[in-house]
Amino acid sequence: MLRIDGLSAWYGEAQALREVSLHVDEGEIVTLVGRNGAGKTTLLRSLMGLHRGASGTVRFLDEDISGLGPHKRARRGLGYVPDDRGVFATLSVEENLTLPPVTGPDPWSLDRVYETFPRLRERRRFPGTKLSGGEQQMLALARVLRTGARLLLCDEPTEGLSPLIVQQIGDILREVKAAGVTVLLIEQNVHFAATVADRHHLLAEGRIVESMDNDEVRARESELLQYLGI
Ligand code: ATP
Repeated sequence: MLRIDGLSAWYGEAQALREVSLHVDEGEIVTLVGRNGAGKTTLLRSLMGLHRGASGTVRFLDEDISGLGPHKRARRGLGYVPDDRGVFATLSVEENLTLPPVTGPDPWSLDRVYETFPRLRERRRFPGTKLSGGEQQMLALARVLRTGARLLLCDEPTEGLSPLIVQQIGDILREVKAAGVTVLLIEQNVHFAATVADRHHLLAEGRIVESMDNDEVRARESELLQYLGI
């Protein structure tokens, strides 16, 4: 579904990504793991067309989208869930869900969103400011699904959330996957990552230095956590 070849990215003179190549098959959940500053967010932003200083080839559904801006990428089915979640604080949950226009090829109805995220139905009249971190994360994910994305680029959805809420996010990601949506996920909680994802890439100084399956991540969990400084 997604194939990246030789993706490099810069901030001025400073190189943040160095010839990254990877692929994500339809229906997979693939994680990106790495220390702070390794380049994970830059990679997701480059894939969405939000980072201007990038070079290399990005193919999505057999089309070269490297030269396209974010709106055209969204129209083809890419959806970005930023780490700050981007929830509109003064709007209600339902307004957050319904105001952004449908841009992608596979929009979810509001009913379908509420079936997958029952908590959001309960909170639908609440303003963004009144939501917990977990509810905000659910809203950010739900909103991108509602606008029609087929591949979610998720920047650390579990960051700062309690173990119970992390578990709920895991259930949601599994449901999203069962619905046929593909996910590329930044995730530092490698224990959690091995319960939701299919494959993992470790990023260091802008390069993919290792690729692992779930068994390998489980076997190396404490080593990886120590390396990540968690
Ligand atoms: P974190 O989890 O801390 O966000 P990350 O793996 O997502 O880490 P990036 O945010 O992609 O890493 O940063 C990669 C490199 O690019 C780092 O060296 C960082 O300092 C640099 N960088 C990121 N954003 C900018 C910016 N706006 N201007 C200059 N350098 C930046």
